[in-house]
Order: sequence, then C-alpha cells, then structure tokens
Amino acid sequence: MSEVTMDKLVNLCKNRGFIYPGSEIYGGLANTWDYGPIGVEFKNNVKRAWWKRFVQESDNSFGVDAAILMNPRVWEASGHVSSFSDPKMDCKECKTRHRADNLIEDYVKKHKLDVDVDAMSQDEMYKFICDNQIKCPVCGKCNFTEIRNFNLMFKTNRGVVEDAENIVYLRPETAQGEFVNFLNVQRTARAKVPFGIAQIGKAFRNEITPGNFTFRTIEFEQMEHQWFCKDGTDMAYYEEYKNKAMQFYNDLGFSKDVLRFKDHEKLAHYAKCACDVEYLFPFGWGEINGVHNRTNYDLSRHQEYSGKSMMYLDPVTNEKYIPYVIEYSVGADRLALALLANAYHEETLDNGETRVVLKFHPFIAPYKVAVLPLQKQLNEKAKQLYKMLNKHFMCSYDEAGSIGKRYRRQDEIGTPFCVTVDFESLDDNTVTIRDRDTMEQIRLNIDELVDYISKRVQFN
Ligand code: ATP
Repeated sequence: MSEVTMDKLVNLCKNRGFIYPGSEIYGGLANTWDYGPIGVEFKNNVKRAWWKRFVQESDNSFGVDAAILMNPRVWEASGHVSSFSDPKMDCKECKTRHRADNLIEDYVKKHKLDVDVDAMSQDEMYKFICDNQIKCPVCGKCNFTEIRNFNLMFKTNRGVVEDAENIVYLRPETAQGEFVNFLNVQRTARAKVPFGIAQIGKAFRNEITPGNFTFRTIEFEQMEHQWFCKDGTDMAYYEEYKNKAMQFYNDLGFSKDVLRFKDHEKLAHYAKCACDVEYLFPFGWGEINGVHNRTNYDLSRHQEYSGKSMMYLDPVTNEKYIPYVIEYSVGADRLALALLANAYHEETLDNGETRVVLKFHPFIAPYKVAVLPLQKQLNEKAKQLYKMLNKHFMCSYDEAGSIGKRYRRQDEIGTPFCVTVDFESLDDNTVTIRDRDTMEQIRLNIDELVDYISKRVQFN
C-alpha cells in the first residue's frame, strides 16, 4: 500500500466529482471549494452519521437550524467583535499578508524545535520571528510589519444604506444560534437540564492562510452540539464528550494511532478548559474538532446584552441558575477530508495492476451499490434492478467499458457493493454481489438484495 498524499487526494476528488475548486472558470477564489455529485452525497452522509449519533441516539438532545445572519449585538455579547482575530503581519517586500503563529509553526516543524506557539504573546512571536530570521514564504525575505490583530468576521450591510448602523456579520460559528435559542428549545421541547442543542450549518471566517485543500476554507460547515448542565457536573460531561467524540471517529473507521487529543494551553476568553481531537493528515497533525467547557459565559453575556433572563428554573428543587455549557464542535468539511485520507488505499492486484480504493464505512459511502450489466442484452434487466434499488439506496448504474474498469471506477468512489447482472440472472433471478474491500463475490437472489445491503450499510 503506498502512502496517500494531498496531491493524490485533490486529483481524485476533482476527477471523480467529489470536490472542485470554487469558481474555477474564473480562475477560482482562494480557499473555496465546491462539492460535486459524489462529494455532496458523501458529505451529507457524514452529517447524517453525526446527527444520528448526537441527536437521534441521544436521550435528551434537540436540533435547531438558526439563521446565518443574526442581530449584531449577538457578536458583541459573544466577544467576537472585540476579540475574534488572528495575529497578522505584512511582508514589506512583496506585500503579502501572513499569520505570525503559522510562520512560527512551520519554522518549528522544519527545524524540529520544541516551541509551543500557542503559549506565546504577540511580542514574543514578533521577537521569535526576528531573532530566527524567519522568511516570508512568498519572497524569501525577512522584513515584516509588526503584528496586528485582524478580525476574522465577514461584514456585510443590511438594507440599502451602507453605514455602521446597518452592519451585519456572516456568523463565524454556529454556536450562538444554539445559545440564543436556549430557552425557546427548553420550553418547547419541555427539556430538563442536562440537555443538548445541536446544529449543522455554514460558518464563515476571513482566513488568509493557505488552506491545505478543504482543511481551512473561508466558508465551511460546522456540526455543533452544546450540552447545558449544572455547574459542578461540567467537568464530568467535558470528559464524557471527549470520549464520545473519539468513539464516534473510531466507529467511522479511524484507527487509534491516527487520532490524538491535544489540550489547549492558551484558553479562549470563554473557556474553563478545552481540547482538540487531531487527525494525522498527509500534511501532519491537524484539528478536526474542539471540545470546550464554555462555563456559563455565553448565556450570562446574552442575559447581560439582551436584558432577557437566561435563567433555568429547576422544576424539582426550584433552584434558578444559568447552566454551564460543554461544546463539541466539529467541521463537517475537515472530518470529510480526514475520512477521505483515511479511506484512501492503493493495492497491487494479482495481474500487477494497481487499484485505488476508498474503504469508507459503508454508511458514509456516496453510493451504496452499483448495478453493472455484463452484456448489452442484459441492460433492460439491469435497469429494472437499478430502479428497484434506488428506491432504497443511492445507487449507480454503469454499462460502459469492461467489467474490470467498471469495478475500478466504483472502487475509486468507495461504493461498497457492485451487483453484476449476467445471463443466469435472466433464468433464475440471481445476481453476483461483489464486496469492495475483499473483492469476493457471492450469488444472491434479487429478492434478498435490499435486506442484504441494508444490514451492511448501517451505522450504529
Ligand atoms: P483552527 O485552530 O484550525 O483555526 P479553531 O480552533 O479556530 O480551528 P473552532 O473555532 O474550535 O476552530 O471550530 C470548530 C471546528 O470547526 C474546528 O475543529 C474545525 O473542524 C472547523 N473549522 C474551523 N475553522 C475552519 C476553517 N477555516 N475551515 C474549515 N473548517 C474549520
């Protein structure tokens, strides 16, 4: 098995319809990507798996789908207007802009130094860059401006007049939609603390650093789950959500050696403690999710800024309090990228050919089954079968090229089952069904197919 590289992934994604560069015919727009026909199925399945685990199978979690544009006071209350920024510096020579922490991280990695950039102040970062003569990655000179904070939120104007009164922000995280609806959900779902609110939706950040494909983009989807609990129970739930996150990834097929927890040294203004789960991407370790103990910071701030009570009244003890929040936040696009890298395999076949195969968990595979007629005369029977199967599963139909080529095409997009219709099928209504990973084939009656495939594509 040869190693997966980012180039191989990007090429496969582009050629097979997973992911294309955004606005490609206009030369693209940096750090934007479009999901194609295969990619949209795949990402939807990743989101479904997450929702199933964290909403459907949770006793006490409820979903919302909040507006992307929120009252700008929300972002004042959350602290984003004043402090959601990255340390940026400009190269005075070639005028390109860079994140100071990223320049240091790359330098430290290259020279194998034991330096924790997260723990550095801005002055320390600037000094480190000057002392080590870290160079601009574009022009190779070391002549930077001082570090300034650059707010990551995209601004736009509401209505026809462009003035400060009309500014609205594209949300930089989905979390605030859950917080502002805390009491709405609690009341309408008749929920008792502890309970959770989950949301999957777009978030926007004006990121300037190179993205590593879909790892860092300016528009991305977050899957966020906020668990509201009583002060004092928070640390136990924090541990529980760390473990639940890890279990979810293991169940999706990641082995233990490619994932790790990383505790935050420098905490966000709202956090009591925080950690990431990182995956070993082809370019190195990278965060796929954060778990944060946000205390009662967000609800308290919304109470203060909106003037509306965010207190929960415990119906048993009659106690009134603002709950603590444990947040589990994962990027759908980052998790999808990690799953793609994890699934990618190259295998040498007996005949010396190489097959590229995406060994996804069947639940997240874009298509569950492909129907392949062996000869032209069998197309009609195969089409009937396809029409029957696509009532149950996302299903592909392919009659073009040799059967070997057709198997390869399905392997490359991770289709777990290929069903071949042959002349025997006309006589006895049986077909062969081929397993993507073992390439073994068995013969089944068409009436058994739906049941057989359904059982094998479940995610529990
Ligand atoms: P990073 O340190 O990589 O910038 P973060 O710590 O700012 O990420 P969070 O604010 O905790 O990220 O967001 C939760 C999740 O959202 C991240 O774990 C990641 O999966 C995803 N995410 C954040 N920023 C981006 C981005 N620019 N592009 C794609 N996904 C992102």
